[in-house]
Amino acid sequence: YVEEDHIQDYLFKIVLVGDSAVGKSNLLARFARDEFYSNSKSTIGVEFQTQKIVIDGKEIKAQIWDTAGQERFRAVTSAYYRGAVGALVVYDISRRRTFENVTRWLSELNTHCDMNVVTILVGNKTDLKDSREVSMEEGKSLAESEGLFFMETSALDASNVAAAFQTIVKEIYEILR
Ligand code: GDP
Ligand code: MG
Repeated sequence: YVEEDHIQDYLFKIVLVGDSAVGKSNLLARFARDEFYSNSKSTIGVEFQTQKIVIDGKEIKAQIWDTAGQERFRAVTSAYYRGAVGALVVYDISRRRTFENVTRWLSELNTHCDMNVVTILVGNKTDLKDSREVSMEEGKSLAESEGLFFMETSALDASNVAAAFQTIVKEIYEILR
């Protein structure tokens, strides 16, 4: 037998959505490479990054897609969403406008994804305590009313970043297995 002939059990496509500069690329950089970029250089046209996550002894490949900045022009294409089984809808807790736009991103997901996409609402930049404009309660309550998972993160200090990605992968696994 070939020990390496260990078939990949699952491959989940997960998309990052949300307004420009909320920290999508840095959440992925932190999760996949444990890196952080203090300027916006992180949006470097990489289509996706694949991370292995083990759940229940099963090896799962999470293929996490990042935009190349198209969201600035409201021009995220349907190809981006195609086949996605999970989504992180990200806002910036220090910019209220990005939270108000969450409903727009949810309807984008609805329009472009055929299946019910497992979605987690992510309030990023919790390190910016002094400039918080959206309380954790507001985030939680929006998530509850929309039937989403919820987590607050900081790509800068790494808090809850892995947990957010792991939560979504675990929930997808629970539904699809
Ligand atoms: P994107 O447009 O959503 O991909 O956002 P980026 O990942 O490019 O981040 C936009 C800006 O916010 C950059 O200057 C990042 O350094 C900064 N940023 C991203 N995440 C955090 C965070 O958790 N805390 C702080 N303070 N800044 C962040
Ligand atoms: Mg980006």
